Amino acid sequence: MGDPKPFKIRGTRRLRWEDMASRPEGFVAIGDAVLALNPIYGQGMSVAAVEALAMRDAIAASDDVAGLAGRIQESFRTTLDFVFDSGLRSDAHYPATTVHGVEVPLPPKSRVLGAAATEDWKVAVAMRYVSHGFSAEPLQRPEIQARVRARMASKRPARPHDPAVIPKPFAGTPLPR
Ligand SMILES: Cc1cc2nc3c(=O)[nH]c(=O)nc-3n(C[C@H](O)[C@H](O)[C@H](O)COP(=O)(O)OP(=O)(O)OC[C@H]3O[C@@H](n4cnc5c(N)ncnc54)[C@H](O)[C@@H]3O)c2cc1C
Repeated sequence: MGDPKPFKIRGTRRLRWEDMASRPEGFVAIGDAVLALNPIYGQGMSVAAVEALAMRDAIAASDDVAGLAGRIQESFRTTLDFVFDSGLRSDAHYPATTVHGVEVPLPPKSRVLGAAATEDWKVAVAMRYVSHGFSAEPLQRPEIQARVRARMASKRPARPHDPAVIPKPFAGTPLPR
């Protein structure tokens, strides 16, 4: 094995094909051509898979090919906005990040969700489903909300989160398999 070789990635890039005023019939942009994500989140292939399912459903629901490409492109919007906004919300607040063409969203109001997820496997699994299923629904379930509320009520501070500091090895009980 040779020495590690660094390479540069342009960061997250969202192209709003669905907002084109006019479009070539039969043209659909998918995968990184629509949303190329910061690879640190490991979401790009999952997004492409969700788009493929949306495309399948749009084709199945269509009796007419006229405008079909536009309907398919539009069907990606909710997923793409969700993933793009959540990545942007995290990335935008690193000092080295530059943002073009979008408003910087406010940082999360509290770190309680992340703090709860480091201590409670059910919250951690719900967050994982959110970050790879691209819907907030798993976190809105009553059981998860109750667990997060209990964590808030405990008023224990969230552990400091500094990406430059390697956390100590986990010393608790492993997650059930
Ligand atoms: C370092 C890194 C780590 C990642 N880790 C993860 C992960 O853990 N989990 C995850 O889900 N996603 C991850 N991703 C993202 C994932 O790789 C992409 O989202 C996914 O590959 C996008 O698929 P795609 O088909 O849209 O594009 P690509 O996989 O990039 O395919 C595009 C293809 O088109 C070809 N091509 C380009 N230009 C031309 C041309 N002019 N003519 C002909 N062919 C052309 C390219 O050679 C390439 O083969 C990672 C990405 C990177 C860079």
